[in-house]
Amino acid sequence: MKRLDLLFAAEKASRRSFLRGLSASALATPALSWLAEAAPAQETKPLGIALVGLGSYSTNQLAPALQQTKFVKLTGAVTGTPAKAAEWEKKYNLPRKNIYDYKTFDRIADNPDIDIVYVVLPNAMHAEYTIRAAQAGKHVICEKPMAVSVKECQQMIDASKKAGKQLAIGYRLHSTPQHQEVMRFGREKTFGAIKIVETSDGFRAGDPNQWRLKKSLSGGGALMDIGIYALNASRYITGEEPISVWAQEFKTDPVKFKEVDETILWQLKFPSGAVANSTGTYAASVERLFATAENGWFEMGPCYGYGAIKGRTSKGEINLPQVVHQAAQMDDFAQCVRQNKPTRVPGEEGLKDVRVIEAIYRSIDTGKVINLG
Ligand code: NAD
Repeated sequence: MKRLDLLFAAEKASRRSFLRGLSASALATPALSWLAEAAPAQETKPLGIALVGLGSYSTNQLAPALQQTKFVKLTGAVTGTPAKAAEWEKKYNLPRKNIYDYKTFDRIADNPDIDIVYVVLPNAMHAEYTIRAAQAGKHVICEKPMAVSVKECQQMIDASKKAGKQLAIGYRLHSTPQHQEVMRFGREKTFGAIKIVETSDGFRAGDPNQWRLKKSLSGGGALMDIGIYALNASRYITGEEPISVWAQEFKTDPVKFKEVDETILWQLKFPSGAVANSTGTYAASVERLFATAENGWFEMGPCYGYGAIKGRTSKGEINLPQVVHQAAQMDDFAQCVRQNKPTRVPGEEGLKDVRVIEAIYRSIDTGKVINLG
């Protein structure tokens, strides 16, 4: 049996035995009656998910991953391109009634086949579609960066809370055993208190006409898009929120990167005294996660891409099972929705990154250290 099958079987068995242990009168009490209704459906039926924006990430990563999920199933799509609607209808056997465009999107409220809406649009559109999805009564996964300002992030959190629905950010790495392990090293001080963190993420941005290079759609450049992984990692390795930031920006191609940043280097100071030195860049490929602590060190690389994650520590290799990141992430969220427990990557986590990103841009604009305390 594969790992997910084992988890699914174990979950089914424990739910059954829990339910068997409850008397009929207990299940009739208001506090527990939802269990009697929800449990049979939970055991047999995965939640339905609709992808909003059928671009590269939806097409090449999320839809294939949804062929491997246990607790969530692709049941809908939102696209402005009729040809894509026809293609996805056929390829994924989607009922025509479950495919929307951006104008008809709000009608998703009346569609019981769709429990979760996954926003996979350019960054500046995340807030609008997350809020509309929450208002339509759906749980939401929104891609990173959560939005282009803290103000928008807060509006998204408020809309989901008002709707009584969950909001998660597409931080897939949090659902991988390897990143969970380095979070544990920080939390449990496996190598003592962390002192220095070095994280960097980057790739070479190709097409000069892509939305990623247009500020009105991206909100920012390499930092927003890819540096956010390095930033997020420095926060989850230390388990702390930074108290100050200092940053510098560099451009080798001012024409291509007229509107957005090409390379940003920043330094964070954490309350414990730990410091992080990080890079987000569109100039070259880089994937680095390194931390050194009182009694040892750990590092991972490759560590932010979609494939296998490799890591080692001062005591030896990090040898943990590889998972399909997006399948693990979406199943993880579906389980939280079904069991009404908090997601490990809530909107608040997305907001914390955007708050630091805003401070990094402020530091570049002013040339000063920005206090976040
Ligand atoms: P993409 O350009 O391939 O797809 C964007 C989609 O949005 C396209 O289908 C496009 O038609 C649609 N769209 C709707 N209105 C648009 C408009 N006004 N301008 C441009 N496109 C519009 O981009 P992508 O790589 O799929 O990225 C989408 C989101 O997913 C981004 O927020 C990105 O940061 C995120 N992403 C996350 C990961 C990850 O590993 N978590 C990986 C890639 C992308």
